[in-house]
Amino acid sequence: MSALNETHDPALRSWVASSNDAAGDFPIQNLPYGRFRRAGSSEPWRIGVAIGDQVLDLRAAQAQPGWPTPLQAPLAALAAGDLNRVMGSDKATRVALRGALSAALREGSAQAASLAACLLPQADIELAVPCHIGDYTDFYTGIHHATTVGKLFRPDNPLLPNYRWVPIGYHGRGSSIVVSGTPIRRPVGQLKGADDRPLLMPTRRLDHELELGFLIGPGNSLGEPIGIADAENHLFGVTLLNDWSARDIQAWEYQPLGPFLSKNFASSISPWVVTMEALAPFRSPFVRPEGDPAPLPYLDSAANRAAGALDIQLEVWLHTPAMRRAGQPAVRLSQGSVREAAYWTAAQLVAHHTINGCNLQAGDLLGSGTLSGPRPGEAGSLLELTLGGKQPVALPGGETREFLQDGDMITLRGWCERPGVRRIGFGICSGTVLPAAAAN
Ligand code: CA
Repeated sequence: MSALNETHDPALRSWVASSNDAAGDFPIQNLPYGRFRRAGSSEPWRIGVAIGDQVLDLRAAQAQPGWPTPLQAPLAALAAGDLNRVMGSDKATRVALRGALSAALREGSAQAASLAACLLPQADIELAVPCHIGDYTDFYTGIHHATTVGKLFRPDNPLLPNYRWVPIGYHGRGSSIVVSGTPIRRPVGQLKGADDRPLLMPTRRLDHELELGFLIGPGNSLGEPIGIADAENHLFGVTLLNDWSARDIQAWEYQPLGPFLSKNFASSISPWVVTMEALAPFRSPFVRPEGDPAPLPYLDSAANRAAGALDIQLEVWLHTPAMRRAGQPAVRLSQGSVREAAYWTAAQLVAHHTINGCNLQAGDLLGSGTLSGPRPGEAGSLLELTLGGKQPVALPGGETREFLQDGDMITLRGWCERPGVRRIGFGICSGTVLPAAAAN
């Protein structure tokens, strides 16, 4: 688990003035990585660090003096747009990079004068998926989501008996993960019709799923599990993740092997990767409700019990075309806390994923599963908010929604705040629904 050090000092201020705004997502205590270039340009993609409303361009910054010699190689990789190489480096290197970036950006830094010319306004850049994502695995750690969805299908037996023992997951698809801002084409698929004869048509039950994405740092060799004690060292950072889902396609296809085309048409991630080091002040004990079984030993450790959970606040916002036409702001659909929603920790997901010898690689993405809280209004999907479409959500202006309509924009937000600690945020993860492709 990442230790607290001087980079987390809430009193630290940066010479980048906008980052000292107490309400901002990207103060000097955060320092998330993203892959970017100037908007509309054909410049090479490179890695930058978000600081206030600016980005520190590491392609330009790397050429400036003042960086510690041992960090020249990782900085060169970042300058070349290769985050995976840094993700796969050892913990000491990742901690040293954060330390050097923090030192360079803080008030009084000798590097301030030369690095000031390496800043770009975030308003002037475009962002890509931050790293090469080789494989995507989607878990199901939201116990309130699993219970509510289970109730819709099995009112008498909502939570299957394996849930409290196995971090349930399935293999998703890496190639269709897109960065925030990418439009989402309404998928076409088989929908159950009368007499079990399906129809091929656009989904009528398009939904969002509020998730976190855990990006893997150093991988493991095939056949060599990652123990729970070492699992945190194999986590690089966290993004917001919207695992778009077509509920009607899902209902028809998911038995017996699980979801397929209802999920893999697109998943959106936020562009800025908040590192595990940045999240160090926002750890919480991992606790099970009274009476629930303790995890098997390979999923249990004193460190995981003491601080395995993440204390992150999440929100989902909806902006419909009618709201935009009327000049109305987006409406918040739900809010909640990861600490309350997740039944398994990120370290447990890593340990479980590799217990059979499966090899993870730097840049692999693990989805948390939909993070719904225990109370109404904390559901991370429309499936739950509308009880399977039976109770439409009322929106300002008289509109209602059972599921998403064309033109709807979903935006996820996330942040961490605690007394005595500097607030940090994840930025946003948004996507707008496009009409289905014309049939040919
Ligand atoms: Ca999911």
